[in-house]
Amino acid sequence: MKKDTTAIHTAYPRQDTYNALSMPVYHSVAFEFDDADSMADAFCGRTDMPDYSRVGNPTVTHLEQKVQALTGASAVTAFNSGMAAISAMLFAVARAGGNIVSSRHLFGNTYSMLTSTLGRLGVEARLVDLTDPAAVEAATDAQTCCIFLEIITNPQMEVADVRRLGEIARKAGCPLVADTTMIPFTEFNASTLGIDFEIVSSTKYLSGGATSLGGLIIDYGHWPELTTRIKKEILFNLGAYMTPHAAYMQTVGLETLGVRYRRQAATALEVAKALQHHPAVRKVNYLGLPDNPTHKLAGELYGDTYGAMLTIDLNDAEACRRFINALKLVKRATNLFDNRTLAIHPASTIFGPFTPEQRAGMDVLDTTIRLSMGLEAPEDIIADLSQALDATEQPKSHE
Ligand SMILES: *Cc1c(COP(=O)(O)O)cnc(C)c1O
Repeated sequence: MKKDTTAIHTAYPRQDTYNALSMPVYHSVAFEFDDADSMADAFCGRTDMPDYSRVGNPTVTHLEQKVQALTGASAVTAFNSGMAAISAMLFAVARAGGNIVSSRHLFGNTYSMLTSTLGRLGVEARLVDLTDPAAVEAATDAQTCCIFLEIITNPQMEVADVRRLGEIARKAGCPLVADTTMIPFTEFNASTLGIDFEIVSSTKYLSGGATSLGGLIIDYGHWPELTTRIKKEILFNLGAYMTPHAAYMQTVGLETLGVRYRRQAATALEVAKALQHHPAVRKVNYLGLPDNPTHKLAGELYGDTYGAMLTIDLNDAEACRRFINALKLVKRATNLFDNRTLAIHPASTIFGPFTPEQRAGMDVLDTTIRLSMGLEAPEDIIADLSQALDATEQPKSHE
């Protein structure tokens, strides 16, 4: 079966009493047992009957199994947000005295998780240029707990050669963990690229237009002791398992992921091409543009779509402010891959709490606008962005 079919037809192996065609939402905290032995078997993992919804729920299991069928992973665990999945993964690998090798180009809370939260617990964050294999190798040693990357960084749009990072991780004897939120896992094969654990904020593409928060750890089974730790210790102790209602919405979202994503990615390319010629735009950064410096590498690694996020650089921060204020159709909001097209000025919002020096260190520029493509007609998106760009050059008379 093709993935679009698998996404819809992967059935839950147990029958619902009423033969419901879609997975019911099992809004129950606890599950009852017929006798003492079946109860003991469930609690000790000898059967896979659910017992308590912090650690297992049939509606969430159904989503996990669909993702497993689509990726070929050996285990999938669903959490209540992308950050919950990232923190669970990092808590599973990290130890005091150890280090994590990653980049300065990270999702803001992941950066803070590595440098502040884990830093306080005695885990060192070694942030290097992941596009420079020699620098990564130099930073990696026997105390390295994992190499962590984002496959396309946001908003810098940096792409490191994940295959090289996998080789370095294997040589160092540690796992390679990749946040793959930017391209759906249905578009490429993470395991053959050498990724040991894929982390996804399912809030984004998967949720079906920003219906719910969610996160996934997709585990390719190369590190059995970590699989056990995530499933048997971290999931239980951190208490951030996905809720049944979120799992239901994300399962419905997963069923339409292929068509939504490919439309959004095609729109991103069309918008990128259209904006390239606008006089107010200094630069369009979209990996799908053939002249993008990492276009070829991104295509080799992640297939012939390049995501639905792009950035544009305007002349200065004031131009960005005018642009954001002039938008009519496109929404002023954070988040990615909503059904609506979204625009944000990362330097003054997501990265606003950081100092200018920290922002400079993360290559977050005052001139950058981030755009996330929705499902509106591309011509309407382009028309709105174009009129907002025109407005950057025509300050209103009362200003
Ligand atoms: C949104 C995002 C996260 C965090 O996900 P939440 O679901 O908001 O917790 C992590 N990594 C990347 C790349 C993201 O875009």
